Amino acid sequence: MKKVLLIFACCFLFLCGCGKIELNINKVSKDLNTYTMELTYNSDHTLIGKQKLNYKNKTDTFLKKLCFHLYPKAFAEGAVNKPVSTVNINKAYPNGVDYGDVEILSANVNGQTSEFTYSGTDNNILNVTLLQELEPLDSVQVEIEYKVYVPNINHRFGYGNNTVNMANFYPVVAVFENGEFVLDPYNSNGDPFYSDCSNYDVTLTVPNTYTVASTGVQEKVTDNGEQKTYNIKANCVRDFAFVMSEKFEVAEQSVDGVKVSYYYYDDENFEESLKAGVDAVKTFNKIFGKYPYSTLSVVKSNFVHGGMEYPNLIYISDEVEGSDYLNVIVHETAHQWWYGVVGSNAFRYGWLDEGLTEYSTVLFYEENPDYGVNTEELIKNTNNSYVTFVDLYNEVLGKIDTSMNRHLDEYNTEPEYVYMAYVKGLLLFDNLRDVVGKNKFEEAIQTYYKTYAFQNVTPEHLIGIFEKVCKTELKSYINSWVEGKVVIISMN
Ligand SMILES: [Zn+2]
Repeated sequence: MKKVLLIFACCFLFLCGCGKIELNINKVSKDLNTYTMELTYNSDHTLIGKQKLNYKNKTDTFLKKLCFHLYPKAFAEGAVNKPVSTVNINKAYPNGVDYGDVEILSANVNGQTSEFTYSGTDNNILNVTLLQELEPLDSVQVEIEYKVYVPNINHRFGYGNNTVNMANFYPVVAVFENGEFVLDPYNSNGDPFYSDCSNYDVTLTVPNTYTVASTGVQEKVTDNGEQKTYNIKANCVRDFAFVMSEKFEVAEQSVDGVKVSYYYYDDENFEESLKAGVDAVKTFNKIFGKYPYSTLSVVKSNFVHGGMEYPNLIYISDEVEGSDYLNVIVHETAHQWWYGVVGSNAFRYGWLDEGLTEYSTVLFYEENPDYGVNTEELIKNTNNSYVTFVDLYNEVLGKIDTSMNRHLDEYNTEPEYVYMAYVKGLLLFDNLRDVVGKNKFEEAIQTYYKTYAFQNVTPEHLIGIFEKVCKTELKSYINSWVEGKVVIISMN
């Protein structure tokens, strides 16, 4: 995600950028779970979903149930873990506070009706009982029918005055690791999501006044005079999302075999916006390794924060303007590499993808001087902004905790999270590049991308790759940043 914050009355812009690596999604997708979805979006802002999940037990545990996240529960009336912090309520709900929800209508396992229960603070976890224990390497088909109530809110999930944003709306199976399902709750800070790469085969029906931007490839669109039906395929992606609008215009350009589509309204500079997406794909293909998908949709939308990443689809808030707008496009495009292809638990290690994504935008501006961003100045300003934040925090609120390895619900304030994950994250990667040198840094990042494509990583994986490529011990150096021991001083 990209946040644009006003901190201490000082407007701080988070400037937060070799084609030899080729990833083969057709090969990898053969061994992944598959969601087959039939979705119908109604004009009363409800969605009826029928989904079949073919799930293979890749753990070494006998599974008695599958757990699914029900993220719309955070948007329900009375939810404890709310989708927006108090300071953002007016911005998120310009038409007044509204609520959403998801209701599970039925669950079937291998064609037989199954029991299901809710758990979690806000009933945000769905547990579907398997009729018999699922042995390691065995597969099961779980069919769920549900109804989604979409709230009027400018958020990842919700409809606004211009767009309907449909992300995190369906029951998504939780990641299983270290002997259990990972069931971290929603949080208004950061992106509280974590999921495995899967395949999606989606039939989406909507009122025919809408144009849909989505994850994956839209293979066919039919129109019966009232409704449009989109047949969409997305292999090897860790989520499925779509945004639709009655106002969308579309501009497209291909780069390195990737069709970049810009969905917009009210944008006189649409060619410039499209170009930023195209330039970002081209640049990151070159310095990290090739984007493995055939589409990327850059989507202007009603969104309370600056932008948001989903596989093959990024939200850019219509409240962001000028060079900030282009910067958000670059940031969210970089997330296709750090989140989309190389996944991580964004609830527990926010800095791992956000820090590297912010630093990717610095690398983008280095490679693209025509954007007019002096990256040395940018690093200096970022460094000094961090120092000012820490000093003021210590003075006003007491001793600041500068550790970065906290869960989203362990940060005291939203600015504290943003400074530790994004700002200090950027500085960590820049300092690491100074320590190991530009060439080794790029080699390590490319190796990290190639080695962990379509997998889930932790900070240890990143450290391991850097140590291997640079042939030196770096764990204590990186951990001194992560654990909050390093002292950052002002730059002149
Ligand atoms: Zn981000």
